[in-house]
Formats: sequence, structure tokens, C-alpha cells
Amino acid sequence: EYKGMSKERMMKIRRENCNPMTMKVTYYKEPVFIHKGHMQWLWDVDGRRYLDLFAGVATVSVGHCHPKVTAAAEQQLKDLWHTTSIYVYPALHEYCEKLASYLPDPLKVIYLTNSGSEANDLAMLMARIHTGNYDIVTFRGSYHGGSPQTMGLTSNAAYKYPIANGLGCTNTMCPDVFRGPWGGSHCRDSPIQTIRQCSCAQGQCTANEQYIGQLKETLATSVPSRIAAFFGEPIQGVGGAVQYPKNYLKEAYKLVRERGGVCIADEVQTGFGRTGTHFWGFQGHDVIPDMVTMAKGIGNGFPMGAVVTTPEIAASFAKGVHFNTFGGNPMACAVASSVLDVIKEDGTQKISLDVGTYLMTELAKLRDKYEVVGDVRGKGLQIGVEMVKDKASRDPLPPEAMSEIFEDVKDMGILIGKGGLYGQIFRIQPPMCITMEDADFFLAVFDKSIHNYMEKR
Ligand code: PMP
Repeated sequence: EYKGMSKERMMKIRRENCNPMTMKVTYYKEPVFIHKGHMQWLWDVDGRRYLDLFAGVATVSVGHCHPKVTAAAEQQLKDLWHTTSIYVYPALHEYCEKLASYLPDPLKVIYLTNSGSEANDLAMLMARIHTGNYDIVTFRGSYHGGSPQTMGLTSNAAYKYPIANGLGCTNTMCPDVFRGPWGGSHCRDSPIQTIRQCSCAQGQCTANEQYIGQLKETLATSVPSRIAAFFGEPIQGVGGAVQYPKNYLKEAYKLVRERGGVCIADEVQTGFGRTGTHFWGFQGHDVIPDMVTMAKGIGNGFPMGAVVTTPEIAASFAKGVHFNTFGGNPMACAVASSVLDVIKEDGTQKISLDVGTYLMTELAKLRDKYEVVGDVRGKGLQIGVEMVKDKASRDPLPPEAMSEIFEDVKDMGILIGKGGLYGQIFRIQPPMCITMEDADFFLAVFDKSIHNYMEKR
């Protein structure tokens, strides 16, 4: 039973003492007051239970307060909270050895940070120092962080301030096979395809070629052959589970490398087995990046991030001094270490694959049933459901309509996320401990919520 601060008092404090932005992003008409979590479940202060299918933005990777991770944190709390990486302590070395074993050669050198923005900031700096170049290319619609530098990578107006953020950052057309002009939906790496027949079924799809052509043009607008880096998420998160044609990243990496740049995979959302088929999202594209950035799921909710790179890039960067007080602190390392153990022991990657594929297959039936469900896509438990006014126009379902469905889903006890440039995409990115029963519960609730909306409209 909850005995803490009243809802009214929390809201008063939120209004008066908290970042005003927190009032704007309460997400729901009535805020959800959460005070407890266990695995895929959350409880509000009134004792209502929610199935959490958003996991604090794809962050709680193995389950809220997972007993094994909590025990590891408790043990480390008793042993050593903090010392810096100036000294040698076991938690950091145990973790680095373990994490490195999950990455292919030559990605073996690890820099630990406290967040995803910090990891991407560092990756930007390292790429520039290593290559001696400045220009960085990202996708339109992407999110890579909110710091002044990473804001330049982030290409979504909702997260921009009017400053010269991220000088030298430029974006290229997002190879979005659903919303983009060239189709290509049958080329993406997902168990689910869109309804509109893509000409690739007849071997005539040109989507990949067209998007690569766009990238070539973007690269041609930069200082000749002076590209520092290309940043891409293997499947967009905030962008709304946007997936690219199958060979896009492979060809993009080649073009960027030919122009002297390094390739960076932002695995902040897609990493740690979430895509089901692979431990890292980039493996689904059959590429090996020069740098991988990670955060969120790395610590199951504990603040942490990392950049993993090659010895060669690390050597270039070692010409200066880079220091981070909390990066790689014992608490974070102990937690993250046990997260890796739990991923293995609980078989969460397999859960992602099985439950995720089941969810998408069933969601595709709702797509076929309802005019407003435009696209179902993703891999594993990185799932997006793109809502449209109608299937012919593919115009985004307006915010009020999205909100109606969203509220209904919440009222029936499930939390999901939203994303996309127009807020038109529902995001399903739960802790990777969910079950088939949870999936069925969600499918029934989602079906009912869309049905309710359709009845009224
Ligand atoms: N990269 C991606 C793909 C993200 O989704 C986010 C956060 N939404 C970030 C980077 C930034 O992470 P953080 O909020 O920890 O700074």
C-alpha cells in the first residue's frame, strides 16, 4: 500500500520546482503516478497495476527491479559506491571484459559514460579527432540526444532549440519504406510487410537505390571527402520503429568510408537483444560499425552509457585526455554486469524474438481489420504501429485521435509509447521479460481501443 506524498502535492512541486517541460510531457490527460515496479508490471499510487510496454522508453531491459540485478546493486552498495577510473577496481574490469565478449572484432575498446547523449557526444568527438574531418550525417527524424552537440544529430523539431546546435551536422533523407515516396516495404528486415504491394515482389523495387542516391547527394554537399561520421540507429526508436531497405546501411557505410568517414551505430534502443534475431541491431544489417553507442537497456534503468570502438580509433583519441568522473563507476558496472548475466540466464533475446514476432503477426491482423492502422513493423520487441487517417492517403492520424486510443489503452491497464515526426506511431518496447499472455492481453486491449475509436469517429 502506498503511504507516500499525495498526488496533489507532487503536482504542485512539479509545477513550481521541476523543469516546466515535465508538465508538457506527462503524456496523459491525467498523469500516471507510479511508485513501484516489478518485472513487466508497474503500480500507481492508487494501487492500480499496469502492464508496462514502454519500459521507461525501452530502458528497463530485463524487468523492473529484477531480483538478480537488484541483488548485484545491493552488494555493490555495501562494497564500494564510487571511485574514479584513475584507480583499478574489479567492477569495471569485470564489466568491460564481459561487454567486449558480446562485440565482434575489432570493436573491443570501451568508454563508459552516464547517458546516451553523453555517449553520442563522445562518439562525435572521437570520430572528428580520428578522421580530422568535421561533417557528420544523420537521418531526418532521428533522435540521438539532447545536449547541444547531439541536438545537431537529432533531426526532429520537437527536440530542437534555436541555437547553432551541432555545427557540422547535416541530415539525409530517412529511408522510411512506409512513409517515403519509393515504397520498399518488402525489402525491410521485419517479419511483417505492408499492405501496399511493393514492386520488389516482382524484383523491380528501386527504393534502396533511390535512398542511397539521396545519401550520395547529401554527402556531395559536404566538404569534399571530409566526412567525419555517419550516425544511424539500426531501427529508429523515437522516430517510430522506422526500418530501412535491407541493404541500405551496408551501402551507406561503404559510401561514408570512401569519403573518409567512420560509421556509428546508435544501439541505445536496439541493443542488448531487443531485436530478437541478434544481440545488436547492426548485426541484422550485416555491417560492422567503427563505433557503437549504447545506453538505456545497458543498465536496466540505472544511468549508464558506453561507446565501443576499435583500437585504432582509440589510439587516435588517446592523444588527448578524456576523463569522466562517474563514467564506469562501480555501481553502474555491477548493475550492467548482472544485466548481461540476466539476459543470458533468462533468455531475454529469445523472448524478444518469440513474443515480438507473435505480437507483430497478430498486430498485422489488426492492420488488415482497421482503416486507421497503416503499418506494423519492427523486429523483436522494437515494434511500431503507424496510425493513419486512411490507408490510401497514409496521412498521419491526428494527435487528438492518437490520444483517444492511447488513453483508452492506459485506462484498460497498459502503458505504451508514441513516436514519429507527427506523433503518429505507437511504440511497443517492453521489458524483455513479457510473456505470450501479456501479448494477448495487449492485443485484446489494443483491438478494443481502436474499435472504440472507430465507433465514435
Ligand atoms: N540515442 C537514442 C537512439 C535514444 O533513443 C536516446 C534517448 N531517447 C538517446 C540517444 C539519448 O539518450 P539519453 O536520454 O540517455 O541521453
